[in-house]
Amino acid sequence: MSNPIQAIRGMNDILPEQTPRWQQFEAIVHDWLNAYGYREIRTPILEQTGLFKRAIGEVTDIVEKEMYSFEDALNGEPLSLRPEGTASCVRAVIQHNLLYNAPQRLWYAGPMFRHERPQKGRYRQFHQIGVESLGYADADMDAEHIVMTADLWRRLGLSNIVLEINTLGDAAARTRHRTRLISYLEAHSELLDDDAKRRLHSNPLRILDTKNPAMQDMVNAAPRLYDDLDEAALAHFEAVQTILREHNIEYRINPRLVRGLDYYNYTVFEWITDQLGTQGTVCAGGRYDSLIEQIGGKPAPACGYAMGIERLLALMEAAGIALPESTLDAYIVHQGDAATAFARQVASTLRRAGLNVILHCGGGSFKSQMKKADASGAAFACIIGDDEAALEQVSLKSLRANTEQTRCTQEQAVSLLKARN
Ligand code: ATP
Ligand code: MG
Repeated sequence: MSNPIQAIRGMNDILPEQTPRWQQFEAIVHDWLNAYGYREIRTPILEQTGLFKRAIGEVTDIVEKEMYSFEDALNGEPLSLRPEGTASCVRAVIQHNLLYNAPQRLWYAGPMFRHERPQKGRYRQFHQIGVESLGYADADMDAEHIVMTADLWRRLGLSNIVLEINTLGDAAARTRHRTRLISYLEAHSELLDDDAKRRLHSNPLRILDTKNPAMQDMVNAAPRLYDDLDEAALAHFEAVQTILREHNIEYRINPRLVRGLDYYNYTVFEWITDQLGTQGTVCAGGRYDSLIEQIGGKPAPACGYAMGIERLLALMEAAGIALPESTLDAYIVHQGDAATAFARQVASTLRRAGLNVILHCGGGSFKSQMKKADASGAAFACIIGDDEAALEQVSLKSLRANTEQTRCTQEQAVSLLKARN
C-alpha cells in the first residue's frame, strides 16, 4: 500500500474531540459580539492578490513571503488565499457601498493562510475572529475595541493577558519620523543586520521591532516617533487612555509597538500572554484611517482588530476551563424486529420533543450496545426489548447516576429526559 495522504504541514484537522472547545468559544464570542451590536460579514477566502498588496503593503512580511499566491489556471489572474480579514472586509464594504449612509460595526471569523514556519501557536492555516468599525474617527471607538476585548477575556474566564498600546501618529508625523530615523540608522549602519539593511529605505519603522539582540541598544536609543507627533495625535491617544482608565483597564505604553501591517495610524494595541511561549500575542489591532481610500473607496476613518482563535483556545485549556457536558440526552438500544421498529418511532418522538438522541445502528447484543451507549456521552440509555415494544414502553437507565432503571411511556420518557436539563 502506498503512503496515506497527509494534511498539508501547518494545516490542522480539528477533530471531534476538539470541536466542543471551539463551539464553546464560538458561542461565547457570538453572545459577546451581539452584546456590542456588531454584525457579521462573510467574504470569500480567495481574493485578487492585488488587494493584499495594496492593503497590507508590498514590503510587509505577510506580502513578501507569507502569502499563498498562485495564478488562476484558466485565465492567469493572480490570486491569494487571504492572510488576514481586514482587506477583504474593507473591499466588500466599498464594493457594496455599505458606508453610504451609516457607519458600520462589523465582525468576521474564519481561516486565514500564511506560509510561516509551523510551531506551537503558529500555523499555516489558522483562525481569526476580527472586528472592524468603519466610518468612526474618534477615540471613543478605539477605546470601545479595547474595552470590549477586556470584557471578552472575562467572559472566556481568561486572566493574565496584558495590554500594550502605542500611537503611530498620522502620515505626516511618520514621514517626519522616517526621515529622522533613516539618518539615525544610516549613522549606525555597521550595526544593521541584513534584514535591517533591506528595510532601511522601504520600512525603517519595522527595524525597531527587531528581535536581534545585537541591535537592541541601538534601536533603544533611536529617535522616538512620539517626539514627532502633532497635538491632534497626542490628544487622540490621551482620550483613548482616559476611557481605559475609566474602565480600570491596565495598560502599558510600548513605544516600539508598530505592528506588521502597513495600514495602521494613531492607536495600535496588542493583548499579550506569557503562557504561550514566544507566540504570546492573542489579539492585535488599531486604527487604519487611510486604508479605505487606499483600496479605492471614498475616504473614511476606521479601526479594527483580530484575535487568533488557536492561541485563545490554548489559553482556555491551560486555564483548565471546563468543557460543557455532552448535549446528548439518550442512546437508544434495541433488539428484536418489533423492538427495532418501535425504537425508530421512539427516536422520532424524542427528537420532535427537542431531545438529542442516537438510535443504535448495526445490531449486536444488548451488552455491546450498552457499551456504545456508555461511550457516547449520553445521559441515559433508552432500552427497548420485546417486552417494552409489546407495551409501547421504554426503559430508561441513567448512564451518569447510579439510579434504578425505570419503565415508562414515551411521553413520560420525554418529561424525564427534559427534567435532567
Ligand atoms: P505574530 O507577531 O504572532 O506573527 P501578527 O502580528 O502577524 O502576529 P496579526 O496579523 O495581527 O498577527 O493577527 C492577529 C492575531 O492572529 C495574532 O495576534 C495571533 O493571535 C493570530 N495569528 C497571526 N498569525 C498566526 C499564525 N500563523 N498562527 C496562529 N495564529 C496567528
Ligand atoms: Mg506574523
